[in-house]
Amino acid sequence: MARLELDSVTKRFGEGEGSVLAVDDVNIDIADGEFLVLVGPSGCGKSTTLRMIAGLESITDGEIRLAGQRMNEQGPAERDIAMVFQSYALYPHMTVRQNMRFGLEESTDLSEDEMDERVDETAELLDITNLLDRKPGALSGGQQQRVALGRAIVREPKAFLMDEPLSNLDAKLRSQMRTELQQLQNDLDTTTVYVTHDQTEAMTMGDRIAILDGGELQQVATPLEAYHRPANQFVAGFIGDPSMNFVDCAVEDAALVADAFRYPLAESTAAAVADSERATLGIRPEDLSVTADAEAADGHAYAATVEVVEPMGDENVVHLSLADGPDLVATIDGLRQLEDGTDVIVELPENAIHVFDGATGEAVHSRSLEAAELNETRV
Ligand code: ATP
Repeated sequence: MARLELDSVTKRFGEGEGSVLAVDDVNIDIADGEFLVLVGPSGCGKSTTLRMIAGLESITDGEIRLAGQRMNEQGPAERDIAMVFQSYALYPHMTVRQNMRFGLEESTDLSEDEMDERVDETAELLDITNLLDRKPGALSGGQQQRVALGRAIVREPKAFLMDEPLSNLDAKLRSQMRTELQQLQNDLDTTTVYVTHDQTEAMTMGDRIAILDGGELQQVATPLEAYHRPANQFVAGFIGDPSMNFVDCAVEDAALVADAFRYPLAESTAAAVADSERATLGIRPEDLSVTADAEAADGHAYAATVEVVEPMGDENVVHLSLADGPDLVATIDGLRQLEDGTDVIVELPENAIHVFDGATGEAVHSRSLEAAELNETRV
């Protein structure tokens, strides 16, 4: 178990004009026993970051420390870190037991009995004892993934690195393995860095999530902080499904304005954008209220038409177009019937809006939320 520190870590592939800055000055301090998820779109530098931690890629600049020790010059085998990949990379000619023992034989000087004991304990933990004598070809994808995990766990490393380990599994198995992995990580209490492009995995699994874009770290936060207090428009749009609605606006006299759409701002919010010419209004689909009753609406209500309704079962995703205004997506209760083409009133409550600077995308105002609401959920 160990604290893992990424200190101004930078990776540049190649030199000169054609070079690629894959990871740009990334700082993350991962606590002992923490489960940190690195998330971002394809090409954002997640795998490169993980590979630098593993020692599979050299570090151009900055320092990586594990348990306070500089790792930069250490080879992968010397780092006491175990990695689990998307491809399970099991040896097909070896049994599950041999696959799990292999890493131990390479990296420890345990006796034969001690190695067997460790493999048996780990197999029990993962519920694969009955598979120990089979070869990988005779296992399902989920079982193979468990064996790959077992091979990492059996080494009792200081840290686990996982690169999209569940992406080859079908949706149901993936969600089951997600829960299992979390439980396992809780029990083992081993520092873990988990890479995914899937924001649902990030939200549900991480103690904290680190969001990368274009090699740059956008925010490191608990899932709920990232969801409710995104540092910028990129994080706001990346985390959450369906995505947050954005309306690109001009700032005019304490209001955000886009064509016929005019959103008056409270004094404190207006002050935050007073110096900007443009700002983006953000609001999550679940925070919109859709009603047929114009009387119920306050000053932030607009006439809209229902374009398309996507029933998801628990909720309906409603695509709305505002008269001479932006298109918005709202989620409403799954049992509520709304027909395409219906005229409705959509309300954007001011306590739920986010405002992002039009030039930089930085958040200048986040939705209201008691600080206690975020803290309580950490327990
Ligand atoms: P994905 O989810 O698609 O795997 P990623 O976030 O893991 O993406 P990386 O694989 O870390 O992204 O790649 C980051 C950037 O570095 C990309 O622009 C990629 O093209 C570039 N890159 C990665 N490996 C190399 C390499 N060996 N040589 C040159 N460029 C590379």
